[in-house]
Amino acid sequence: MEIRKNLRIGLAASRSHLQSPDGILARLLNDAKTAITQHLQPELIAIGGTYDAIRAHGLLEAYGHLHRFPNGREGGLMKLVSRTADPDPARALDAIIYLVDPTDQSSVFPEAVALKRQAIIHGKPFLSTLAGAREWLELEAFEMGAVGDTTLDETFFLEKENVALIAHDAKKQEMLMLVERHFAVLDRFGQRFATGTTGGLLNELARKIKGEDAGRNWVKPFLSGPMGGDAQIAELVLDRQCRRILFLEDPHVARQHEADIQLLERAARTVSEYASCVSEASCIERWCRLLEKRILKISS
Ligand code: PGA
Repeated sequence: MEIRKNLRIGLAASRSHLQSPDGILARLLNDAKTAITQHLQPELIAIGGTYDAIRAHGLLEAYGHLHRFPNGREGGLMKLVSRTADPDPARALDAIIYLVDPTDQSSVFPEAVALKRQAIIHGKPFLSTLAGAREWLELEAFEMGAVGDTTLDETFFLEKENVALIAHDAKKQEMLMLVERHFAVLDRFGQRFATGTTGGLLNELARKIKGEDAGRNWVKPFLSGPMGGDAQIAELVLDRQCRRILFLEDPHVARQHEADIQLLERAARTVSEYASCVSEASCIERWCRLLEKRILKISS
C-alpha cells in the first residue's frame, strides 16, 4: 500500500449548504465521519463560515485537525486558491471540497472559478457535490484499510450505474489512454454516455478491444460538445440517469461553448447528493483504480 502523509483538504460550502444541521455540509461530515476521523485523519482547512457551522452544529466533535481560514468575504476562498497552487508542501492543499449551491451567486465569483481551475492545473481532486466528496472520501479511506461503508454499496453495483465520458480536444488522446488502461472497470457500467467526438473515438477504441460487434455501441454519443452535447448529458444528470461524469477539461484554452461546460457541472451541483464530476487525468486515473478495488468488496 502507498505510504503517504495525511492529506490536507481545503473545505468550504455555500451558505445554504451549511446553515442547517441536516444540510449538505452536515450530511457529508456525518456520513463520512469514520472515514475522516479514523482512517484519513486529514488536516481540514475550513473557511470561516464553514468552520463556524461545523462548530455550531457539533460536527466532527473533538476532531483535532480542523483549522480556520478567514471568511469568504475576507478572502478565505481566495486563500484556498493560492494554497491549491502553492508548491510548498508545508502549505499546499492536496484536495478541495467546496460544496457549491449553484443558485448562490458566490458560486460564479472569480475565486470559485479559479479554485476549480487551479485544482485541475495542479492535478488535485476538486469535489463540488455531496456525492462526489462522499465517494472520494470513501474510496480513499477504503484504500487506507477501511472496511467500506455499506450504505454506499448500492452505488457500486456498476451494472446498474451509468457514466459520462467527455474530453476536450487537447485531452482526447489522454482520455483514450485512460479508458484503455481502465477498460475493465468502465466496461462494467450499465451504460456509457459521451459527447459526439469523444464518443466516436471511444467506440473506435472499444471495437479494437471488444471486437467489431460488441464494441460498436460501447458508448452512446450525443451531439458534439459545442453543438449541445454537454447540455444533453446535463439533462441525464438532472433526471438521475447518470451519476458520474468523467470530464477531461483543458484549463488552458478559452472555448466558445464555455457556458455549456459550466452548465454540465452546474447540473451535477443541482443534484448534489446524487451526482459527481471528476475533471482531471490523474484524479480520473486514481478514481478508476480505487473504484476497481472497492467494487470487489460487494462482488465478493
Ligand atoms: P466533443 O465535445 O466530444 O464533441 O469534442 C467535448 C466538449 O468540448 O465538450
